[in-house]
Amino acid sequence: MIRKTFVQAKNFLTKSKLNQGLTCNPYVGCEHGCVYCYANYMVPGRTDYDSWGSYVDIREYPNLDIPKNTGPKPLMFSSACDAYQPLEAETGSTRKIMEAIVESDLQIQILTKSELVLRDIDLFKKMKMVEVGFSIALADREASLFEPGATPPSKRIAALKELKAAGIPTYVFIAPIFPYLTEVIHLIDLLKDAVDYFMFDSFNLSHPLNRKRILGLIEKHYPKIYPEYVNIFNLKDRTFYNELKKNIMQHAEALGVKVNYLYP
Ligand code: SF4
Repeated sequence: MIRKTFVQAKNFLTKSKLNQGLTCNPYVGCEHGCVYCYANYMVPGRTDYDSWGSYVDIREYPNLDIPKNTGPKPLMFSSACDAYQPLEAETGSTRKIMEAIVESDLQIQILTKSELVLRDIDLFKKMKMVEVGFSIALADREASLFEPGATPPSKRIAALKELKAAGIPTYVFIAPIFPYLTEVIHLIDLLKDAVDYFMFDSFNLSHPLNRKRILGLIEKHYPKIYPEYVNIFNLKDRTFYNELKKNIMQHAEALGVKVNYLYP
């Protein structure tokens, strides 16, 4: 059961260093509850990190006016939540924002793990610049462990194909790549015709609790690869990711697919 609270917020657009533009987070909290999420460590005033996925604050704004002279800045949905998490079907908060910016010059980039994004195809078709991406890293079984509240990856793939068929620019963010679990090359083959470009990333392990949560599940469900994870997570062995990076570059080049970001 999700704890829902309405909170007042000043602005729906905030400046971001991530994209040198703007971000919009209509929610604080995320029902998807990904075990590897690091947004839970960035919520001001909250230290109940383990309750991530069990609460969502729904932001209410005094208005949805775009400040004058904003121009064609990048706008990301979202940097610290999923704007299309299940609650969105009930509140329509993200939809209201999309309606408010539909005719703007903003370069709108959406990243989600929810097929609910398909609901807004009618608005995306009217936007000057928009692209919709899905994060996909696992097969359905593994995703049910590590991303328990999100749309299963098989449905995310189907949604990407539907968006592409509707003429919406698409991308996939293969992240976080789980060593020995994420079938990276298979995903490239599977999605090469459904997306305009690929991005790839490893884990953000900046918070020690994050590392502990992931390692705990790997040890329990995948004991054979647990020692490899200890090497990679705790001893910072980059051999796996360096080798994979070479394979990704070779495969992408052979297929002629565009890679917009590949982890360092
Ligand atoms: S979908 Fe994104 S914001 Fe939501 S829990 Fe997962 S990683 Fe965090």
